Amino acid sequence: MRVLIAEDDSILADGLVRSLRHAGYAVDAVTTGVEADSALTTSVFDLLILDLGLPRMAGLEVLKRLRGRDSHVPVLILTALDGVQDRVRGLDLGADDYLAKPFELAELEARVRALTRRGAAGAATVYRHGALTYDQVGRVAQVDGQTLELSAREIALLEIFMQRSGRMVSKEQLVGHLCAWGEEVSNNAIEVYVHRLRKKLEPGQVRISTIRGLGYCLDRPH
Ligand code: CA
Repeated sequence: MRVLIAEDDSILADGLVRSLRHAGYAVDAVTTGVEADSALTTSVFDLLILDLGLPRMAGLEVLKRLRGRDSHVPVLILTALDGVQDRVRGLDLGADDYLAKPFELAELEARVRALTRRGAAGAATVYRHGALTYDQVGRVAQVDGQTLELSAREIALLEIFMQRSGRMVSKEQLVGHLCAWGEEVSNNAIEVYVHRLRKKLEPGQVRISTIRGLGYCLDRPH
């Protein structure tokens, strides 16, 4: 497994390189977007770890060019903690996963294992719920094969609902799950996000019920 790390923070990059090499990956590291783009054009990698804030070509542009060449190499993007827009844009441009800085190396290694496993086996963990499917690794939701346009937060919510289909999920569990994704949200904001997600799922006959005072439930499909 060969991994390319594009990260201009030398301390972080050194840590990533050492940790992934220790975990048995072949690792190349570059510090600018131009170098990343050129390495991706000339060599084959099994995974790209891409900082979005790179000098001499932004990470999003590197990603756009990569997908523009029809490359399906899994991409894990690294973003600033408050870079929600960048994260969403990165996922929209075809990134497979993201980590907000600062993060634990153990978490990065776990994400890397998941992404390279998918690359190797070509199979992902897919949840099904009636006409709705959710690919946990690619973080893609589809209804009857049509991909739903969901924000990173909506995807995070859908993920926990799919994992607990037919069971009650409390607001606190939803807040905790979003925090694990690096999203800061309040109990009140959850209502708004659930409302939006509910609207997007409606056409697929997928219902999220409110259990007054307790939480929500993804109703079992008919
Ligand atoms: Ca940077």
